[in-house]
Amino acid sequence: MEVGKGEMKHKKKKWKKWLGKKKCQPDEEISVNESRGTAQLANAVMPPCEPVRVDERDLPAETAVIYQSELDYISRCILDYPNIETGGQLFGFWSAAGTPVVVYAIGPGARANHERTFFNQDIGYLTSLGRILVDKYGLQHMGEWHSHHRLGLAHPSGHDASTMVNSIRQGNLGRFLLCIGNCNGSSSVLNAFTFTQSAGYDYRHAAWRVVDVESPFRTAISADAEVRRIVLDPLTPSPNHGKLFLAGGRECFVTPDYSEDYWLKDRANNLVLKKMMDDLSASFGPCAVQKDDEQRVHLSVRRGQEFRFVFPQRFPYVPPLVLVDGVAAEVPPDTWVFSGDIAAAFAQFSTHVLADAVKTEGEPAI
Ligand SMILES: [Zn+2]
Repeated sequence: MEVGKGEMKHKKKKWKKWLGKKKCQPDEEISVNESRGTAQLANAVMPPCEPVRVDERDLPAETAVIYQSELDYISRCILDYPNIETGGQLFGFWSAAGTPVVVYAIGPGARANHERTFFNQDIGYLTSLGRILVDKYGLQHMGEWHSHHRLGLAHPSGHDASTMVNSIRQGNLGRFLLCIGNCNGSSSVLNAFTFTQSAGYDYRHAAWRVVDVESPFRTAISADAEVRRIVLDPLTPSPNHGKLFLAGGRECFVTPDYSEDYWLKDRANNLVLKKMMDDLSASFGPCAVQKDDEQRVHLSVRRGQEFRFVFPQRFPYVPPLVLVDGVAAEVPPDTWVFSGDIAAAFAQFSTHVLADAVKTEGEPAI
């Protein structure tokens, strides 16, 4: 099957450079330092073949269409790297109503750089494979996916969102699809986020409409000898999907096994945790997040020593525990002042703890 062959010349003429490095979030640890986030995603966006008419009223789509085969493929890719970052690109179309339709997904190339704290796609892989998908099969590079980590932070990070918004504006792309994957070691989920140029940061968590067959593009492209020489398929033999947010269903996110009354069981608090990480990172440098065997979340930063904030079961009604290089630190009880705003209380608390540490160590304050 050869789709859009008649447009090959036109598309070739318009072909532009694909991408720079794409950086992603880590798996067990997540760096939210701006310089180590998805900073260069802008370069990963291929300009569309035709000029995009940007409608001021163009709202992000409420649904995103994906073929089951592509959801399966991405699940296998995510499960290939349960403890380290990975990602890839999405190809397909936009419907007249502005709904993304994903018909072909790719994963990481052989030279992709998977780190605990970020992921860089293999540029040569994407360029050579993308050229075939666009030129020969008439597809558009209309989205990206990357795996985040296991902590239920299933949204784009603040930095992911700003990178998206800037990329769309700078490239005059009109719209773009960002999918965030999560896994718990044995199963994966993928959440779709639709961005439009006019909506900016008001992106939408779109519900999936899964077309329950193999994508005809996958069937065709898999048989293409040129593609077969290039493409790298995941090693994990079978997909395993967690609960997806499906059209007509309830919005859901994969959440780790927090106990019923843990503060992060409430999805709204996942966004609060992200804000806390952003704040901590902005003031004190890269911040990592981890979960311990008791399913408690930890945030840590390095200021010469490692400062770790552990959120106990009864948080925010009790203060975070503070560990300095693994040793419990005594923090005066009145340092934790919670009156309803967790992020604000934590900003004050962490600044107090870390400012003291900075003074003690004689390090310059930021
Ligand atoms: Zn991200």
